[in-house]
Amino acid sequence: MIETFTYEALPIRVRFGRGTVAEVGAEVARLGARRALVLTTPQQAGEGERIGGLIGEACAGVFPGATMHTPVEVTEQALDALKAADADCVVALGGGSTTGLGKALALRTGVPQLVIPTTYAGSEMTPILGETQEGRKTTIRSLDVLPEAVIYDVDLTLTLPAGLSATSGVNAIAHAVEALYARDRNPVISLMAEDGIRTLSSALPILIHEPANIEARTMALYGAWLCGCCLGAVGMALHHKLCHTLGGTFNLPHAETHTIVLPHAVAYNAPAAPEAMAAITRALGAPDAAQGLFDLVRALGVPRALSEIGMPADGIDTAADIAVENPYWNPRPVTRDGIRALIARAYAGERPV
Ligand code: NAD
Repeated sequence: MIETFTYEALPIRVRFGRGTVAEVGAEVARLGARRALVLTTPQQAGEGERIGGLIGEACAGVFPGATMHTPVEVTEQALDALKAADADCVVALGGGSTTGLGKALALRTGVPQLVIPTTYAGSEMTPILGETQEGRKTTIRSLDVLPEAVIYDVDLTLTLPAGLSATSGVNAIAHAVEALYARDRNPVISLMAEDGIRTLSSALPILIHEPANIEARTMALYGAWLCGCCLGAVGMALHHKLCHTLGGTFNLPHAETHTIVLPHAVAYNAPAAPEAMAAITRALGAPDAAQGLFDLVRALGVPRALSEIGMPADGIDTAADIAVENPYWNPRPVTRDGIRALIARAYAGERPV
């Protein structure tokens, strides 16, 4: 049954395909910009130079200093580089870390952003920015940080290592899963969510063995776009809050944390979200949503236990305390005992119950 809902479309231009990065110069011009500063992580600096070459005369340089968690110190260095280069637009090439830096610059200067995503994190489709200052992460939601344009080029994802492809892909699936039971869910986003889960869950097991499989790469990037739209459009719940808490408290890697926690968060919410569970099971082609997600993660051969990615054993109680400290909306009420049990299972890598 369709209930009363609100749907707000976000004004982002999207180009999707293979070889689409060749259009980067035209897309910069379309933004009305004269000089574009290319942003990358140190690891992708070479690729940034190549994109700068494609932009040609309108390239104001490459700032290869993007790093995890968008630290304010790095943003300040990039601001200096933006001013020194007299740039009036940014081209962020990379994953969520690089996109985050572009958003932080847009927030402070109003420069338009063209994002060229090379992972499946989905930040390019959201008006959300998380920044860290003196070890504390704060998140804002504002149209001021929403990118103006996105170029998805399947060819740029071919170098994404198999393990990161898997965890980044499950990170994307998590956006769609929570969109299906969001308090402000709507039928259009739910369509995108179900299809996002379907395409990613079929593509990822192929990519683990054949990282250069073009059809699977195309489906994965398309699915990541759909899932990014979900994250940008509706509110997230228990799963994202837990990953935020665990990542922030124990400095755990972002995509891996999402991958490990997701089946457990879904098992917790299952009794309170039957329609969402039905959509997830349809998308996975599995009889049960949480078990199906656990089996997917197992098939991908990536870590399944928080203990494997650096969480300390005595962190289970700390994390449970923090997770219930600030009450937030979730389809099933969040209790300390329930959350402690969930985290303990995720810590040990056990099957969700
Ligand atoms: P990332 O951006 O940190 O990238 C991880 C590493 O992979 C980097 O070294 C990067 O250079 C490298 N890499 C990326 N693409 C590659 C490719 N195609 N080939 C080879 N190497 C490649 O990782 P991520 O998971 O994309 O992003 C995580 C960050 O994004 C987190 O800080 C998270 O909080 C943030 N995020 C924000 C939002 C939002 O809406 N604000 C959404 C999702 C994620």
